[in-house]
Amino acid sequence: KPHIVWLRRDLRLADQPAFFAAAQAGPVIPVYVLDDEAAGSHSYGGASRWWLHHSLESLGNTLGRRNARIILRRGDAVEELTKLAEETGAEAIHAIRHYEPWWRKAQGKLSDKLDLQLYDGNYLFPAGHVTTGSGNPYKIYTPFSKAIREQMPPRDELPEPETLSSPGSWPDSDDLADWNLLPTKPDWAGGMRDFWTVGERAAHERLDWWLDHVDDYDDARNLPSKDKTSQMSPHLHFGEISPVQIWHRFKDKRSAGWKTFEKELIWRDYAQNVICQFPAYPKESYRDGYGEGLWRNPNRGHLIQDDLNAWQQGQTGYPIVDAGMRQLWQTGWMHNRVRMICASFLVKHLLIDWTHGEQWFWDTLVDADYGSNGVNWQWVAGTGVDSNMFVRIMAPLSQSEKFDAAAYIREYVPELADLDEPYIHDPEEHGCLPADYPAKIIGHREARERALAAYREMKGD
Ligand code: FAD
Repeated sequence: KPHIVWLRRDLRLADQPAFFAAAQAGPVIPVYVLDDEAAGSHSYGGASRWWLHHSLESLGNTLGRRNARIILRRGDAVEELTKLAEETGAEAIHAIRHYEPWWRKAQGKLSDKLDLQLYDGNYLFPAGHVTTGSGNPYKIYTPFSKAIREQMPPRDELPEPETLSSPGSWPDSDDLADWNLLPTKPDWAGGMRDFWTVGERAAHERLDWWLDHVDDYDDARNLPSKDKTSQMSPHLHFGEISPVQIWHRFKDKRSAGWKTFEKELIWRDYAQNVICQFPAYPKESYRDGYGEGLWRNPNRGHLIQDDLNAWQQGQTGYPIVDAGMRQLWQTGWMHNRVRMICASFLVKHLLIDWTHGEQWFWDTLVDADYGSNGVNWQWVAGTGVDSNMFVRIMAPLSQSEKFDAAAYIREYVPELADLDEPYIHDPEEHGCLPADYPAKIIGHREARERALAAYREMKGD
């Protein structure tokens, strides 16, 4: 009898425990179900759909070379898998465990009906692996990270299955092209095609490159003008590579760069740990009072749409913010330091609820991740279970100088390409604002005072 492998964001063959177990048990039927309803506001956005298309295509080609396929079905995942199991007489369904609330629900429903075998595969350790002295999950990153480090090494890596035997006949499959995951008119994905190579092999090529560069990470990771971070986030999100595979490649490194990089991988585990405890975390402020009280609110007559549009389109008059937002739009990715600056600008300078930013990133990032996006937005906004204080307001123009962003701004804001330092960081202040570049939508001091006043009002001071 065949064994179904239920694929989600674990689109790889090596170190894929579900594939490995199914291949040992009998003929394998890999399936991907496109479920547009279950995730609600967190159904995949445009950039993620673009990545998903190419990742499915790439894994389909790899499987094709091994006389296997991916069966594509669209609809409610539980219903589709139940139907497929009936059609094929499958013995069991094998899948990597995922922690997004809609996947936890589907996993629960499926295991009530069928033999669903779940495996840990996409994190260094399963969520809930470490707990506090009183047996509760950690809420704060630093003790979580310390506890995870004490558990190292993570599990051993699994090889690719040696053989994949095919079922007697293949069930029907949708055609990937009919899913329309790629943009048509307008075709906004040109920048993404130039920037990325999608798929398991590309993820490993990037890892090979990163092995030679990780030692500089500690010093250079905050410099957006340099290519000094791994850019593996979409590969990790879609599970084209696992953090366990990465960890084992680096384990003999002793550099500060690798230690800092390991901390970032632990942040990724931490984010899953948070959404397991607070499933709605990416949609609601964790701290009471921040929902209605602090942000400018259209329901109370505040007009935020023009500011939100300017932020989304990279037209705020703050070069570092505009460069970041345009990098995001063009490539589907933004440098982490600039993500923090842009997010802080939306929340504090523009006093707009962080959930608007979370949703924009959700739609435009190729690495959009329910846990990581929500956790980082709440961290920046100061609303989270572990977060920066709201009253610590980042100064985008000083950040731009401090982290040497001139070349980055020249690349993404061509209107400013002829300006030298220091003018490029703040052309308005230096009296050299080009005609085709906007003045600041709000001055830094004014924005800061407005944010602090709103905070005091919320607190009733
Ligand atoms: P590297 O610096 O090379 O780090 C290696 C890996 O560690 C990353 O690929 C990522 O998987 C993980 N990682 C690094 N930093 C973090 C972090 N702060 N939190 C969780 N994991 C981390 N990351 C996402 O993967 N998806 C998101 O949707 C996302 N949204 C974000 C939103 C905001 C407002 C901010 C400030 C950060 C967000 N991040 C998100 C975290 C971080 O910016 C990206 O993971 C990182 O920029 C990806 O680039 P990289 O692969 O070169 O990272």
